Amino acid sequence: MSSRNTPRRPFIVGNWKMNNLARHTAALCKEIASNLENSDTVEVAVCPPFTALLAARASISQGPLKLGAQDCHAFESGAHTGDISAEMLSDAGCSYVIAGHSERRTNHRENDDDVAAKARAAWRGGLTAIVCVGETEAQRDTKATRQVIERQVTGSVPDGAVADSLVIAYEPVWAIGTGRTPGVEDAGAVHRHIRAIVGERFGEDVAHGIRILYGGSMKPDNAADFLADPDIDGGLVGGASLKAEDFLAIVAAAGGRGC
Ligand code: PEP
Repeated sequence: MSSRNTPRRPFIVGNWKMNNLARHTAALCKEIASNLENSDTVEVAVCPPFTALLAARASISQGPLKLGAQDCHAFESGAHTGDISAEMLSDAGCSYVIAGHSERRTNHRENDDDVAAKARAAWRGGLTAIVCVGETEAQRDTKATRQVIERQVTGSVPDGAVADSLVIAYEPVWAIGTGRTPGVEDAGAVHRHIRAIVGERFGEDVAHGIRILYGGSMKPDNAADFLADPDIDGGLVGGASLKAEDFLAIVAAAGGRGC
């Protein structure tokens, strides 16, 4: 349990999206796991596709590299063809599940209520939820970022959140997969806004303990700048997590954060 005196451990998460067959996943996990040098100071997880989770688990065995999934259904079991429950993910070796990634909000029309239900399901299944929020380019252009973030954090994070079972990822939609990023100061300001919203609702201990990740074109050459901000506690990394060398460079940058 985190307290106000405990520094937050940086957290780097690879979101592999719909990439890699099981054998490629196993090889990439092995390469990352065998080169993780600062796993005592940085927590690292990868989120392969569902079909590759068991291969990933076998390839990392008991090492420090953790596993997550990219989505879960809100229910534990039942007539939900094609869906996967948090309990199944836990059974497959996951510790984390992403909820409300913008690609799911857009492609599957998931709203804040859906995301909150998935986060509750994650907790029920013994997983930590990585809840994603972020404004679109149009919302940014109309200076609506703070309101959008407030609405998404309020609506997507269920009651009862504690720091150990919740991670929030701030991912500006316009920065995902585009090579464009906000300035570090702008991103840091959004992270402080999120922490303040969490503090008002769940108290200062939760606000201090919760890790808020930045996501959106994080790369080896910009990671250190983002991670130098005291309120940016790590990264949710898409494209750059598919190459071990790049992902490990981002992990190394997090290790140098010195929080
Ligand atoms: C993501 O998909 O969560 C992401 C941040 O992607 P990318 O790093 O490729 O922008």
